[in-house]
Amino acid sequence: MTESERNGGGDHGPAVIGGGPAGLAAAEVLARAGHTVTLYDRMPSVGRKFLIAGRGGLNLTHSEPLPAFLSRYQPEGGALAEAIAAFPPTALRAWCDDLGQPTFVGSSGRVFPEAFKASPLLRAWLQRLDGLGVRIRTRHRFIGWSDAGGPVFEAPTGRVETAHRPVLLALGGASWPRLGSDGTWVPLLARAGIAVAPLKPANVGFTVAWSPVFAEGFAGAPLKRIALSLDGVRVRGEAIISADGIEGGAIYALAHRIRAATERGEARLELDLRPDVDESALARALSDPKPGLSLANRLRKAAALTPVGIGLLREAAHPLPVAAEALAALIKAVPLRLLAPRGLDRAISTAGGVRFDELDAAHMLVRRPGTFVAGEMLDWEAPTGGYLLQGAFASGRAAAAGMLAWMERSAAP
Ligand SMILES: Cc1cc2nc3c(=O)[nH]c(=O)nc-3n(C[C@H](O)[C@H](O)[C@H](O)COP(=O)(O)OP(=O)(O)OC[C@H]3O[C@@H](n4cnc5c(N)ncnc54)[C@H](O)[C@@H]3O)c2cc1C
Repeated sequence: MTESERNGGGDHGPAVIGGGPAGLAAAEVLARAGHTVTLYDRMPSVGRKFLIAGRGGLNLTHSEPLPAFLSRYQPEGGALAEAIAAFPPTALRAWCDDLGQPTFVGSSGRVFPEAFKASPLLRAWLQRLDGLGVRIRTRHRFIGWSDAGGPVFEAPTGRVETAHRPVLLALGGASWPRLGSDGTWVPLLARAGIAVAPLKPANVGFTVAWSPVFAEGFAGAPLKRIALSLDGVRVRGEAIISADGIEGGAIYALAHRIRAATERGEARLELDLRPDVDESALARALSDPKPGLSLANRLRKAAALTPVGIGLLREAAHPLPVAAEALAALIKAVPLRLLAPRGLDRAISTAGGVRFDELDAAHMLVRRPGTFVAGEMLDWEAPTGGYLLQGAFASGRAAAAGMLAWMERSAAP
């Protein structure tokens, strides 16, 4: 009996390594095409990050028109855009419907399952995969390739050499490593001569040197309906103050620009606390204050600022100007200096990864024919808003289509 047989056998045919949304999506496409698929994951169960993503509401995708949707990704265009065009948000929603997990569009345009959480969807999906004959082997950590070229795993029973072909690597990025994706694949691929852009935190907060008074008074305070600008790029959204920084959707939407600026020194942003009101209207509202009204009350009543907004003005200018025009100008462009991104372990997602020029059009590694790559371990990034999961689903399915074509070619006489 061979080692692989002792460890469960069935080590030929297509394999998917990594049981996140990218790997599970690929396994489904392969199994539907009639293949016996083996899916490996290093954790005791699959889809752990997917489950955590659903903790505050599983934002699966976004309902905006496809061109705007595709413009959220860095880099724009290329293989990922093609994969998403082939499996766009409408297709992902139809897939959810078909799984008995209908979706709805929230007021922000974001798409969620009606159950809101990820667990019912994952449960239904795993049942479907089971019905399609997908074999899931957990506690199998991919550790490289054997001399014969098959993927090798570290399992509770020891080293497991397999002869799977083709193989999809869908090992995720390196954020929240306790959920399974720890980025330890980087040196494995680098040793195989495959270029990997350094993994960096994306969708992450940045540190700010708040004054102790501000940090103590406002850590956890939300900034709602604000706009942030950096280098002429303006986004609207929300943010949250933390004791040593700032995070939230508006920050994430600018994250790759902010990160690049902090790598050169610091990122100087402008925060508009009242994006719906123009500066002259604000100045008019702030002029002629009632006698005896404190500056804080004037800002609260005339400019509808919250305490955290007033606190931010005080962080930026002390003493605060009293002239209405100067106050209005400050409210529309509070200077913010962001110093550095938080660590990768606290990021929602990972930028960097296997470079797209290592892949052919079918998501196959040019230097390792028969090995395909999908999901967050590829070198792309996107803000929160459903773009990450859509990217993972779509690239998993695109890679599976590439594997099917490769198997057909290999089987041809
Ligand atoms: C807190 C949080 C909230 C999020 N919320 C959202 C959201 O609302 N919307 C959204 O679009 N995105 C969200 N995301 C991001 C989204 O979850 C990820 O982008 C997505 O899961 C990536 O899918 P993936 O399949 O590429 O990788 P993962 O989901 O990371 O899956 C990779 C799998 O590979 C396995 N693996 C890793 N290394 C090995 C190895 N050596 N051998 C075997 N197996 C291995 C891991 O155990 C894991 O199961 C969130 C992320 C976090 C952390």
